[in-house]
Amino acid sequence: MKEILYTTAVQVFDSENELTEPEQLLLVRAYEALSNAYVPYSGFHVGAAVLLANGAIESGANQENAAYPMCLCAERTALAVAAMRHPGIPVMSIAVRVRKKEGIISKPAGPCGACRQVLSEWEDRYNCNISVLLQGEKGVVFRIPNAKSLLPLSFDRSFL
Ligand SMILES: [Zn+2]
Repeated sequence: MKEILYTTAVQVFDSENELTEPEQLLLVRAYEALSNAYVPYSGFHVGAAVLLANGAIESGANQENAAYPMCLCAERTALAVAAMRHPGIPVMSIAVRVRKKEGIISKPAGPCGACRQVLSEWEDRYNCNISVLLQGEKGVVFRIPNAKSLLPLSFDRSFL
């Protein structure tokens, strides 16, 4: 028997002020996207913004539905917008912010498993790493240098 150990590097910053200017801007754009969330059921807003290799920033927000499995995540919404508006241009970074109806969220919330799978494929699709920035409404920021490290043993095209 042998054991395979997977590790995920998470860089922790006390606030967005410790990040680069482009990263701070991306977090602002993700925060702005929160207001476009459609969340009549959970009241949990998620905003995402992606930075593309051409310098463009696109954003998305979660879109809920009375048929719950139909809900769309902010991360995948932002990626779809980027793919439609900038065909063939890689995504370099994604920022995700969250807000709830009552109370302030001051810790980062990670993407769901489905979004981790899609981000992993996006890295394969464009052969690049996607830096992931996570922050609540305020406070600590997590930076994960590549999305694939958030989903060890992910399913990929090599199986098909
Ligand atoms: Zn998701």
